[in-house]
Amino acid sequence: MARYRESVCRLCRRENQKLFLKGDRCFSDKCSFERRGYPPGQHGQGRIKFSEFGLQLREKQKIKRMYGLVEKQFRLTFERAERMRGVTGSNLVSLLERRLDNVAYRLGFANSRAEARQLVLHNHVLVNGRSVNIPAYTIRKGDALEVREKSRKLLRVQAALEGLKRREVPQWLEVEPAQFKGQVRDLPSRDDVTAQMEERLIVELYSK
Ligand code: SF4
Repeated sequence: MARYRESVCRLCRRENQKLFLKGDRCFSDKCSFERRGYPPGQHGQGRIKFSEFGLQLREKQKIKRMYGLVEKQFRLTFERAERMRGVTGSNLVSLLERRLDNVAYRLGFANSRAEARQLVLHNHVLVNGRSVNIPAYTIRKGDALEVREKSRKLLRVQAALEGLKRREVPQWLEVEPAQFKGQVRDLPSRDDVTAQMEERLIVELYSK
């Protein structure tokens, strides 16, 4: 599956928002968005006026990039959200938050979602005591997550848990950094996700 392999900081600049794709660097004064908060490219500093479609497309691209998904994965998540009861946009955000790679990131096992994805793929994360190596795995209420015992000495895991002080752990999760463990207290509601998102634009885009 084709993955974006260029500088991820360009994505933040393109979407005009910090997407926190680079771990520690995002909280430092080396953040490219802080230094050059305008879109990349020759015409980046010019005025850009988006059409309605353009706004919807940019919002979809932003959220997709924030969670590190490719188009097909994102579309399938949207279709699943549509089949669920309730508001499609809120269901979409909730499903994205419940992805195993996102939860591992939120619990501080990794510094970014990309790093969390790799941890999961390499069998470093256990869910309810069993190894799950599927980043898209949907976490349920009450699930217990932990870093596999022999992976706890990995420096990047230790550094990530140390760096958790700079981030807020959402209320729907509980983390015990010293034990390399975390628990899903509740399912995330739309209000639990504080990142700036207008999911209604995605619903409008995909409803065309
Ligand atoms: Fe985005 Fe982080 Fe790069 Fe800043 S450092 S531009 S927040 S990925």
